[in-house]
Amino acid sequence: MKHSKIILLGLPGAGKTTCARKLSAEFGLTEFDLGTILRENADVETAYGTPGEYMNRDELVPDELVNELVSKRLPADEFVLSGYPRTVTQVEHLGTITNVGFVCFLSASVEVLVERLRNRRIDPKTGTTYHLRANPPKSEAVANRLVQRQSDREELLKPRIEANQELLEPIVERYRTHPHFVTIDATRPPDVVYRTLAEKIASK
Ligand code: AMP
Repeated sequence: MKHSKIILLGLPGAGKTTCARKLSAEFGLTEFDLGTILRENADVETAYGTPGEYMNRDELVPDELVNELVSKRLPADEFVLSGYPRTVTQVEHLGTITNVGFVCFLSASVEVLVERLRNRRIDPKTGTTYHLRANPPKSEAVANRLVQRQSDREELLKPRIEANQELLEPIVERYRTHPHFVTIDATRPPDVVYRTLAEKIASK
């Protein structure tokens, strides 16, 4: 493995979690998804309040809180990071605590993402993501326990994706000049997207 400190950038539904899972399984890298970590720590009291207070209002958790969390928890030598950085301040903070080796932007149109998220369901037991039509679970037990994330509800989808798009653009611009930056067409099937990513990491 040529690079072991990897960032995945992309809008919700672009496939960051799926790619992170596969990179972790194939190369043993630690998945570090900030959204997941914040959900697990939603009720933890901090000087800025609890992460859950912001998440429930669909607001970003303050930079100071997330930067501190990342400083404390991000593994020193290897990771697949997603959901962070989401602001330019976070980009700058990350630059002070680690050297990112490889940055991948998973690019997809709003239309494709809305369709994916509308059909996205999560297995609360394993964290595995399914698509109700393209990738349904094989077992009925799993099918019966699937849940939809609050933020994937139909009425919230488009505004959420568009708000994320505004935040993401300056982040992508910041990393575009990184020597190991790639853009991958994430509208293709998940396996194809992942293989393309794994090949680029090996070759670039
Ligand atoms: P996600 O699972 O990535 O959609 O994130 C869920 C929620 O966690 C977001 O709506 C934000 O409230 C919060 N969050 C996730 N990542 C960040 C971040 N890098 N900075 C601030 N808040 C974040």
